[in-house]
Formats: sequence, C-alpha cells, structure tokens
Amino acid sequence: MIEAKIKQTVRDVADFPKPGIVFKDITPILKSAELCGEITAALVKQLAGLKIDVVTGIESRGFLFGMLLAQALKVPFVPIRKAGKLPSKTIQQACNLEYGSAILELHEDALIAGQKVLIHDDLLATGGTVVAAAKLITQLQAEVVGCSFIIALDFLNGREILKEFTPQTFALTSY
Ligand code: AMP
Repeated sequence: MIEAKIKQTVRDVADFPKPGIVFKDITPILKSAELCGEITAALVKQLAGLKIDVVTGIESRGFLFGMLLAQALKVPFVPIRKAGKLPSKTIQQACNLEYGSAILELHEDALIAGQKVLIHDDLLATGGTVVAAAKLITQLQAEVVGCSFIIALDFLNGREILKEFTPQTFALTSY
C-alpha cells in the first residue's frame, strides 16, 4: 500500500530546522524512481473526478511532485515561489508556517480568471502556506478546487483551517 511505503521511506529528522520540530524529509523517496512513479499515480487516482485546469506547486518541495502531477494530468504547472525569486511582475501574500513565516509570490499573468486550480505541496502542517497560496490564486480570479499533499500532519489541524479556502483536501498519508 502506498501509505505504508511512504511512511517506511520518509526520514524523520528531529529538531530541524528548529528545536521541537520533527522534519519529514522526503528526499529518500526521490531516490526511488519506482516509488516516485507510484506516488504520482496515487495522487492522480485520489484526484479522479476533480476538474483541474492547472496545478500550482509551492516552493520548493511542492515543485517535485507538483510538476510530475501536472504532467500526468496533462495540464500546465505554475510555481508559487518565495519572495524575490520570480522574475516578472508578481502579486504577494504573507504566510505563517509551522516553524516561521514567509512571503509567497505568483506571477500576475500565471493564471487566467476562472481556471480551476489544484494546490500541491509535499506536506500540510498548520495550513498557513496553503492559505497564502489560495489567496494568491483567488486574487487572480481563479478558483481553488482542491489541495493535495504527500503528507498531512493532522495533529496540527491544517485541514480545519483550509476548509474556508478550498472545498477538498487530499493527502496520501497522515500522522
Ligand atoms: P504550514 O504552512 O505550517 O502548513 O507548513 C507547510 C510548509 O512547511 C510546507 O511547504 C512544508 O514543506 C513545510 N513544513 C512544515 N512543517 C514541516 C515538517 N514537520 N516537515 C517537513 N516540512 C514541513
């Protein structure tokens, strides 16, 4: 089962990047091309029935499977990046993370009004990052149709916070 494989492969790193945080390191997953393929297929399966025009991925780990997912769905991929990285004109949103804060940016011409957008990131913690991403998407008059993650840290209640910003939250594995 994909959930068991992910849990066996993800590496817990204690006290990174701050004391008290257990960081879920997905780099061991990336070392297996087979597992990456299985995860992409599982994401596609979980999202079946959802109309998706565009996948957005959140810097930087959201780019990894976000792009694979967009390719599998045969739809465009749009990167949401941290401040100062996107070269053309951007819109910005501040966000609070499990272990800090950041500003996210989106190119102002990245989405077309009315497009149905899926947000992808590797992990859902408090939900602050995805809330900021959802605000950027709606600022461009596009519609957030769902959020997808490899991992959700359910004890941080991110799913509750996201209810206001997206109709559906999907995760392949939860803790
Ligand atoms: P949040 O905004 O609190 O939901 O944090 C989610 C973002 O921070 C994602 O981009 C994750 O990659 C990263 N993140 C937060 N907590 C962790 C954690 N315990 N392990 C790995 N990544 C994390």
